[in-house]
Amino acid sequence: MPWIDPDFPKTATPSDLVGRVLGLNPGMMTGPGTNTYLVGRRDPILIDTGIGVPEYVPALDGYLHERGWRQPSRVVLTHRHRDHIGGVAHLRERFGGLRVSKMIHRDAGLPDGIDDLRDGHDVHGDGATLVPIYTPGHASDHLCYYLPEEKALFTGDVVLGGSTTVIPSDDGDLLDYMASLRRLQSLDVRRIYPAHGPVIDDPQARIAEYIEHRHQRERQILDVLSAGPSAIPDVVKRVYVDVAPALHGIAAMSVESHLKKLKREGRVREEVQRDAPSRWALVG
Ligand SMILES: [Zn+2]
Repeated sequence: MPWIDPDFPKTATPSDLVGRVLGLNPGMMTGPGTNTYLVGRRDPILIDTGIGVPEYVPALDGYLHERGWRQPSRVVLTHRHRDHIGGVAHLRERFGGLRVSKMIHRDAGLPDGIDDLRDGHDVHGDGATLVPIYTPGHASDHLCYYLPEEKALFTGDVVLGGSTTVIPSDDGDLLDYMASLRRLQSLDVRRIYPAHGPVIDDPQARIAEYIEHRHQRERQILDVLSAGPSAIPDVVKRVYVDVAPALHGIAAMSVESHLKKLKREGRVREEVQRDAPSRWALVG
C-alpha cells in the first residue's frame, strides 16, 4: 500500500469506543492525512484536529451523526505540529466553549485558552479514559494516550502506520525518542491507533521494528565514520544509496539526529569547519 494512499477511508469505525475521521491533508509528511480519533460513547473525546482543512468539520459532523453521537466533550492534542492542532479554530467555531488541552512545553504562538495536560493526569470521558503518556523525541511536547478499556494506544507521530517517523532537528531528539519507544514497549498494548496510516494490530512487533530500524541506521552511520571523519551530505550519499536525491534533505535531518544522539552519548565528536559543514568523527 502506498504511503499516500488515495483510497484511505475518510472515516472508519475501528471499535465500539473509537471512531476515526481523516484530516483530509494528504502529503509526503502526512501520508493519507492526519487521523483524528473520537473516543468514548455519545459525547466522545476528540484526539487531534487535523491541519484546518475547511472540509474537515463537515466530515466530523457527518461521522458523529452516523454514529448517533452528539458532539466532542473536549479535545486533547498529541503535540504542537500544525497538522495536529491546525483545526482547533474551526472546531471552536462549530462547537462553542470546546475545551482543548495539550502538554504546554516550550510553546509560543499557541491558540488562546489551551490548557495544560500532563503525563499521568487521566482524562475521563463518556465511557472511556485516556491516560496521557509523555513521549518526547519526535516533538518535545508529545503525549501518547493510553485507553485502558481497550488496552489500546494512540501514538500520535511516535509510531505511524506505514512509515517511520521523522525526528526534526529543531525540536526532535533521537535519544529521547528511543527512550519513549522503550517506555511504550513496557505497556500492555494490544492495538495502536497512529496519527497517520492504518490501525496496527501487532504493536509489540511494530515497536521492536522501529527500534531495530534506528539501530541499523546507527550502525551504518558509525560504519561510514569508521573510514574517517565525514560531513552530513557525504554520510547521506553513502548510507542512503537507494534513496532518490529529492529525499536527501529529509535523510540529512535523520543523519543529523543520529549524530546528535551519538554526540550526547560521547561516541562521536563534531569538528566545526570555518567555511564548510561540520565534520563528524568517532571518539577514541
Ligand atoms: Zn508531528
